[in-house]
Amino acid sequence: MSARHLSRLNEAQLRAVLHPPNVPLQILAGPGSGKTRVLTSRIAHLIEQHKIQPSSICAVTFTNKAAKEMRERLTNLIGKDQTEQIKLGTFHALCALFLRRHASIIGLDGNFSICDADESKKVVTKLLKAHKETLAGPSSIISEGNVLSLISKAKAKGYSPEEFHRFLGRGDPSTDYAVIAEIYAEYEKTLRQSNSLDFDDLLVFGVRLFAHQRVVEWCKHVLVDEFQDTNTMQYELMRHIAASSRCVTVVGDPDQSIYGWRSAEIENLERMERDFPSTTQIMLEQNYRSTGSILSTCMAIISQDKGRIEKTLRTSNPAGFTPVLKRFPTEHEEASFVATEIKRLIAFTGGMLTWNDFVILLRMSSLSRTLEAALQREGIPCRVLAGHKFFDRLEVKDLLAYLQLVDNPYFVPAFSRVINTPSRTIGEKTVAEILAQADKRRISPVDLVERIHDGSIPDIKPPVRKKLASFVQTIRSLRLRAQEGESTSELIRHLLDLTEYEAWLRKTQPDWDSRWENVQELINFASEVERTTPAPREDHSSKEQPAEWTDSQAEFDTDALADAGGETPLRLFLQASMLSTDVEAQDESEKTPKVTIATCHAAKGLEWPVVMIPAVEKGIFPSARAEDIEEERRLLYVACTRAQGLLYLTHADSRMVNGRRNRQMVSEFILAVRSKLQMLFRDDLPNLKKNDRDVLTQVLNRDAPNESDVSRMVAEYQRTVKCVSTSARRSPSPYGRASSPTRTAWRDSPPAILPA
Ligand code: ATP
Ligand code: MG
Repeated sequence: MSARHLSRLNEAQLRAVLHPPNVPLQILAGPGSGKTRVLTSRIAHLIEQHKIQPSSICAVTFTNKAAKEMRERLTNLIGKDQTEQIKLGTFHALCALFLRRHASIIGLDGNFSICDADESKKVVTKLLKAHKETLAGPSSIISEGNVLSLISKAKAKGYSPEEFHRFLGRGDPSTDYAVIAEIYAEYEKTLRQSNSLDFDDLLVFGVRLFAHQRVVEWCKHVLVDEFQDTNTMQYELMRHIAASSRCVTVVGDPDQSIYGWRSAEIENLERMERDFPSTTQIMLEQNYRSTGSILSTCMAIISQDKGRIEKTLRTSNPAGFTPVLKRFPTEHEEASFVATEIKRLIAFTGGMLTWNDFVILLRMSSLSRTLEAALQREGIPCRVLAGHKFFDRLEVKDLLAYLQLVDNPYFVPAFSRVINTPSRTIGEKTVAEILAQADKRRISPVDLVERIHDGSIPDIKPPVRKKLASFVQTIRSLRLRAQEGESTSELIRHLLDLTEYEAWLRKTQPDWDSRWENVQELINFASEVERTTPAPREDHSSKEQPAEWTDSQAEFDTDALADAGGETPLRLFLQASMLSTDVEAQDESEKTPKVTIATCHAAKGLEWPVVMIPAVEKGIFPSARAEDIEEERRLLYVACTRAQGLLYLTHADSRMVNGRRNRQMVSEFILAVRSKLQMLFRDDLPNLKKNDRDVLTQVLNRDAPNESDVSRMVAEYQRTVKCVSTSARRSPSPYGRASSPTRTAWRDSPPAILPA
């Protein structure tokens, strides 16, 4: 047996990789114990050893960045060709992929656009305005933000508007919930009319698709990373995929569940055991990531979590450099310290560390400005990993909206955004009239504008007519190019020419030059997507007839950009940009070493040699707005456990928060365990000794077990695997928030039936 994908695994990890494909498996373990590594090796093993078709494997990661890393590792293990066939990505990206190809099965048009939070917000604002009179309740629950979040929560649970009212409003017609349920229903209708889906819809319709009898055969094996942060819809998706095959593997850590605020449900662990009886649990207890003293600091923090069940996590890494807690008068001294300390460490390690080895983790992205400025003063290059930010910029959104309209002429939010960008002096009333008429005639707004000469829109002056005609011409000509499969980078260049966008930026934006750079960055991103997105492979028929065929869908389809579900370069690009959860657009810059600034949420699953966490203060960490204090503590734990060799926590006595200078106190998470923390509390600079450098080198260059060790372990496993899978020791689980006596558990120490 080729041991390549089995090398560098310990015994418990190896058991997890070799576990029979059709026995449901939960790998629950602490940070840095190799869960993600095991998942990747298991995929390779399914393909290499069990000859499973790569195209029948669905591997789910939490971010696109994690997907990219997994793809790279798999490419190294099993080659590019096989890796490209695996359905690998976030739940959202996988749903988008399947819906594009097979939406018609559930009566949906595969040419849908993906609507971002901003566009959803605009729809809700309009609907709220229309319902203003009927809303009676306190204003706190009726802001757009709240309505959107309620709709999103309902969708994450899979509730229809009626169910939403029944469950949340308890069916009481006098409450605002009744109105919100109505807004929810109208919101859905509006999105469907412009043939668009929001992020939650991708999951809702994805589940509907996978619940369908005919699709069960597409994917048989499902493997999910970061399972502790799945919501109901994501769980349902996983359940449907594995319903008949029972080939399901999940890895996760209840101590790292940090997305409760986005409807993640830790109960999914229990649900899985109910839905998949005889689910086996394997526990990993060896941490490979961090030094001993970082690990004990992390354990001291998480041990305060009230609902937690104690578990073991040990490391054979050296104790290493003691984590540092430092206090500063204000955020400015704190930021300067961070910058100078980074330089000092680089000098101290004689270049062993580069800028890439440092991360600054923030509870909220608004804290980053002061830090960015301090790094800049010291000449330290940095990148900011701050969620969707790049795609939120005005110029990027303008161009994306044009491309969305080219892809889907029915997409109203895109039409509304670009009809006057660059300005065509069309009044709001005229735009509203265009949309209303288009809706009435069930044609796209672009089609309606094309027909202005027949008097459909009154009061349009000849110069405006001319501009509108040129607008339609632009969309039509780009659409033709897209249909012919032109690359998106070329398409954007034509778009810029046709709309004279640069001149418009110069005229209207004082900082037009940096905006123009972002436009160029978008072109780079398009080239990157073209280079890295595997060409679509048709694994099954993509042209099924819809279950129910309505007139409106027929009309949408006659105007389809490509065959229903066709993945044109433009569509792949739009999907990649709409679903970007991190800084893919800046991935190019990863080649030049830079210090990373990221939110703690975005750092999930990743690791760095040096982690610095500023503003560990009351009101910030935990956030004053947090509903679940334990989730905040877990977030701090996630942040600290990213560190391999060095960990710094800092706090300031005074800080500008929301435009006001506040007196700050160190976080209660630290105060509570101060005596237990193995930390440097002195205010002087940490004294780096030669020994620290050696330890760092050791942690960062771990040794792999040699080939003969692996072969021996595989042989041992194979001798015993049969009896293990039928009669594994039963014991209550030390994992999860509530334990279940029915689980079978394997820990690092092998079950009794394994040879010692
Ligand atoms: P998290 O909970 O933070 O996502 P994880 O359990 O997924 O962590 P990994 O990211 O898979 O952990 O692994 C942590 C680090 O340990 C990685 O650098 C990985 O390469 C390394 N590692 C994992 N297993 C081993 C092993 N058996 N030998 C050496 N290094 C290992
Ligand atoms: Mg992981």
